[in-house]
Amino acid sequence: MNLLRPRIVLLALFVLFVIGAAISTAFGVETERAVAVAVLGGLTLLVIGLSILGRMAMHWRILASMGVGVVGGIAAANLGSADIVADTVAPMGKLFLNLLKMVAVPLVLFSLVAGVASLNDTSKVGRIGGKTILLYLGTTAVAIALGLLVASVVRPGSSITEETRQSLLSQFSDKAQEAIDKAGAVEGQMGVWDFLISVVPTNPFGALAVPEMLQVVLFALLLGLALTRLGAAKAEPVVTLFQRLSDAVIELVHMVMKLAPLGVFALIAGVLADLGKDPEKLEEVGTALLSYMATVLLALFLHGLLVYTSLLAALSKVPIRKFFRAMVPAQLVALSTSSSAATLPVTIDCCEKGVGVDEEVSSFVLPIGATINMDGTGLYQGVAAVFIATVYGMDLTLGQQLGIVLTAALASIGTAAVPGVGLIMLVIVLKQAGIPAEGVGLILAVDRPLDMARTVLNVTGDATVCTIVASSEGLIEADAGAEEGSAGEP
Ligand code: ASP
Repeated sequence: MNLLRPRIVLLALFVLFVIGAAISTAFGVETERAVAVAVLGGLTLLVIGLSILGRMAMHWRILASMGVGVVGGIAAANLGSADIVADTVAPMGKLFLNLLKMVAVPLVLFSLVAGVASLNDTSKVGRIGGKTILLYLGTTAVAIALGLLVASVVRPGSSITEETRQSLLSQFSDKAQEAIDKAGAVEGQMGVWDFLISVVPTNPFGALAVPEMLQVVLFALLLGLALTRLGAAKAEPVVTLFQRLSDAVIELVHMVMKLAPLGVFALIAGVLADLGKDPEKLEEVGTALLSYMATVLLALFLHGLLVYTSLLAALSKVPIRKFFRAMVPAQLVALSTSSSAATLPVTIDCCEKGVGVDEEVSSFVLPIGATINMDGTGLYQGVAAVFIATVYGMDLTLGQQLGIVLTAALASIGTAAVPGVGLIMLVIVLKQAGIPAEGVGLILAVDRPLDMARTVLNVTGDATVCTIVASSEGLIEADAGAEEGSAGEP
């Protein structure tokens, strides 16, 4: 019986992996690949151990697994075995990502309908909506301006030589063209009417299926409002049904989050193995773009540190430490998935269970935020625009900079929150400012790691606004956070 204890099973599997690697080497499999298999197998078992053993808080488990993922990815790349990671480890990450996406739409639909239908004051919806949009637009505009400012001070493009510029542009010209083409398709639909029309679903079931998050939010909101007009007696069974379904989906989020350590490990290992496939090229572009990357990261950090903390301190009653502690799981998932949309269920859970935000605010404010509020992305576009302009020997005028703030803010509303979309929006911003759009080729090599970082800020920004709005409406529970079962705690 004792032999079935998890620690023993994991250890036995680990030993089997090592023996397997030794045997494969003896039978002629390249040593490096056999070592890579043993290392990756061992690390995967370690992460499984981390997920199921001990009493560690979930965010520590995720953080530790992320570290293991970094080691695994770098080791595999150095052993020339990035393909093994892509074939065997990365799919586990995709699985986790799909599970997160699976719960996002039902979570928003059920909890928003239940939340709005149980409101006794429906004018609240308009008020919450107004505050939300104002704060989202305001924080995004500040983020873009901060990006422009930090980049203008640091001037990260000034050290790029003509030779490096040509080399980067030619290496990434295909991918740059791809981004330009995609931007062309989005660009035509950025008017106010286009936006409003795109938010109203002609078929709500179609919106759920795609999914079109803003359309889902609008439909859920209207259905909830319609239920309040039916009268309590008639609406009650439906509201209770939606409430229970929402409870069940939240439970599902907790079940999915049990896999977070493994998922995060696999996603990070996949990204790093892929990045490290060609170490010489990585070194070359990494050195050239180091100051650009450092500038983006510095500005992201400053925005989180200065803007969010002061907004939270001034406009909410939630202690800053408590807020950031509660958000760690969502930030780690955002870092590894590079997608605010996929992280949405975790963000909702962290805000509700960790910060204490009421469901009716979180299920309304956060899905809108995941779709239209991208502070990190806007900020990165500010830095990237200055960087690219500098490399092309251009100085941006105040008018151009204001144009960048406006276009980047609008572009973030018009585009979905998926990995890499910031790059497509950047093309639109560059064109508007009169900077050569093919200049995106200059920064493509390091887009993925920066995408990971900016997604963390995007998600933190959504949660900050959600917390402030809930606080201002008195829809926040002061003693939340100690509760078991949130995404933050096992
Ligand atoms: N990946 C980002 C997000 O989902 C968007 C981007 O910056 O590309 O928030």
